[in-house]
Amino acid sequence: MIRFSEEVIKAMNDGLVLTDTHETVIFVNPGFVALLGYAPEEIIGRKWLDIIPSEHYDMVQEAEKRRARGLSDRYEMVLHHKNGENREVLIDASPRFDKKTGEFSGTIGFVTDIAQHKKDQFALQKNLLRYRMLFEQSPIGVFHFDNDGIIVDCNDNFVNIIGSSRKTLVGLNMLALPDQKLARELQNALDGHTGFYEGVYHSVTAEKSTPVKVHVSPLLDKDGRSFGCVGIVEDLTDQKQAEEAVRKKEALHRKMLANIGDVIVIIDRDGINRYKSPNIEKWFGWKPEEVVGALTWENVHPDDLAPAQLFFAGILQKPGEKDTLECRYRCKDGTYKWIEFTGTNLLDDPDIQGVLGNYKDISERKNAEADREKLQAQLLQAQKMESVGRLAGGVAHDFNNMLGLILGHTELALLRTDDKHKLCSDLKEIQKAANRSADITKQLLAFARKQTISPRKLELNDVVESLLKMLRRLIGEDIDLVWQPSAHLWHVKMDPSQINQILVNLCVNARDAIAGVGKLTIETGPHTFDEEYCDEHPGFIPGEFVLLAVSDNGCGMDKDILDNLFEPFFTTKEVGKGTGLGLATIYGIVKQNNGFVNVYSEPGQGSTFKIYLPRWVADDDIEKNVPEKKAAAGGTETILLVEDDPDILTMTRMMLERQGYSILPAASPAEAIDLAKNHADNIHLLMTDVVMPNMNGRDLAEKISTVYPDIRRLFMSGYPANVIAHQGMLDDGVAFIQKPFSMADMTEKVRGVLDKA
Ligand code: ADP
Ligand code: MG
Repeated sequence: MIRFSEEVIKAMNDGLVLTDTHETVIFVNPGFVALLGYAPEEIIGRKWLDIIPSEHYDMVQEAEKRRARGLSDRYEMVLHHKNGENREVLIDASPRFDKKTGEFSGTIGFVTDIAQHKKDQFALQKNLLRYRMLFEQSPIGVFHFDNDGIIVDCNDNFVNIIGSSRKTLVGLNMLALPDQKLARELQNALDGHTGFYEGVYHSVTAEKSTPVKVHVSPLLDKDGRSFGCVGIVEDLTDQKQAEEAVRKKEALHRKMLANIGDVIVIIDRDGINRYKSPNIEKWFGWKPEEVVGALTWENVHPDDLAPAQLFFAGILQKPGEKDTLECRYRCKDGTYKWIEFTGTNLLDDPDIQGVLGNYKDISERKNAEADREKLQAQLLQAQKMESVGRLAGGVAHDFNNMLGLILGHTELALLRTDDKHKLCSDLKEIQKAANRSADITKQLLAFARKQTISPRKLELNDVVESLLKMLRRLIGEDIDLVWQPSAHLWHVKMDPSQINQILVNLCVNARDAIAGVGKLTIETGPHTFDEEYCDEHPGFIPGEFVLLAVSDNGCGMDKDILDNLFEPFFTTKEVGKGTGLGLATIYGIVKQNNGFVNVYSEPGQGSTFKIYLPRWVADDDIEKNVPEKKAAAGGTETILLVEDDPDILTMTRMMLERQGYSILPAASPAEAIDLAKNHADNIHLLMTDVVMPNMNGRDLAEKISTVYPDIRRLFMSGYPANVIAHQGMLDDGVAFIQKPFSMADMTEKVRGVLDKA
């Protein structure tokens, strides 16, 4: 009757139960026993309905009826274990039929414990739900398309991002989208690779364009077979808008920075440039990336480095405070610009973490300041030279008169003593010393521009040439004198003796500067300077000039010497060797002739002195022949002698009387006029001082001429500072003798004027 293999039935995990037509249990297997905890004898013989909980009665009775009609049933129910616990089971009940009669003979039921299965199912459901929630609630769009690219499913956000409705989107062929790049990425994913797309998605189903980012990944089953792809879509609209806003703000900042004019900088605590605004290129030639990352100090002028570093260290000590420094900053082309650096310590500010500052270009102000200082220095120098000149001139003038007296009286004394007289040699020494002093005085007068000169139209080349022999002797054989005259040279108007003075002084200085063998070059040449040139070259004067340049390859000069060069009594030579009057004299001479001097020199590099003398242009200059030198002879003519210094008057009178002349001495112009008016006989010569109180020599001469129209004139002066000699000059052609004078010179001059045709 029962044909199950015993073994199978024993080994079955599931429970097996047989009942007869009255639903009385007739067999249970060990699986059933294990499931419900009853021994077979506790079950067999009991009605099936007795074993199951009452709530299932209806269902079970219904199933029994169905089985009687030959039908099977499957249902889940809860059975009670013998110990009272519930057992969830699946019952699979089928009718049994008698083999022979074919009549219904009872039920065979399989009882399966489905507790684990139920648990698994619940877990699966939970999982599915969770993923569904993720899918639906995700803030990004998710879509799933099959192997043909057809959208199978998508979430609400996908619909929101793309536009249109889920109904229209599901079934859409993604591979047929017009955006080739997106289609390519999707196909790529279908081929088993993840794809990425960023761009603007133009919806074909709704009028909408959306900036999106799309990631697609292939979906593979456990055998590695593709069943479409899943894609996630991010809406970049907000991000793009934010980016655009940032971009706009940055553009605004850039424009503002460019408009500020200053360079904005951030320097970290180590002095490294962290930021330079683009203006740095405009002002300094550097591109920001060329200096960012480098040490700030690299471009600070070496002379400003120490103060700049000190300043920076100071700023680092004072969080939040602002400070300012002026220094020079190097441009890309190697030049420096003055900047004003204003910096604030913002090391604590997380956005800055450094010193935030700005460079203001103050070169213009600095240059103006420097120019002003230079001009101020030049002015001071000029004023100093002027006052020293006035002082020297004043002293020299008085001194000159005194020397005149000494020389005159010595000469008179010498005339009265023969060579054997014991005073003779002393007198000669006095005369020699007085002459040397007179030389110095003359130099001082030249410096003070009080030298009395007789300017003439000159060919500079001729004058220099006439002096070459003497100059060669002066500098000695070890020094080679090179003469380079310019072929085309303008004329100058000058006293040739002053050219002599200039050249002698320059050549002596050059000789002293050359130790041993050397070279000295004298050049001439025409030069024109326009206003522009003179603006750029302080000390130059616009106009046409004749250049007289003397260069040597001697020791040269440093700045200290150059600064003091033209000051009287400035010398670097040992006592007795230099007087310091050579260049002062030249300065005076050149100024007196409205020219200027320029010196180029460096230590060890030799020196060049350039004397610029104004070109002579007027043509109303009447050249006067210098009278021939005659043997000094006296005379018997009557001379009206006017001199306000009583000592000089007496001495000169004595000198003239010695030569046989009759003298009418006058101590003032008024006295002279009186004398002239009251004198009965002829007066042949008026010999007068130029500078006198109340009336000058020229005016006096005019007055006397009204009484004696034929009277000859001879002017004397050591200091002609009035109308006639306002610029140190006398009218051309006027007879003049400079004080102090020797008896011989005086005699010759007087005779010359009286004998002149
Ligand atoms: P002195 O020759 O009596 O010293 P100067 O006025 O002629 O006075 O010169 C002043 C100083 O200028 C000199 O002592 C010398 O230091 C310097 N000097 C002048 N000319 C030259 C030169 N050609 N080379 C170098 N130094 C010079
Ligand atoms: Mg000298």
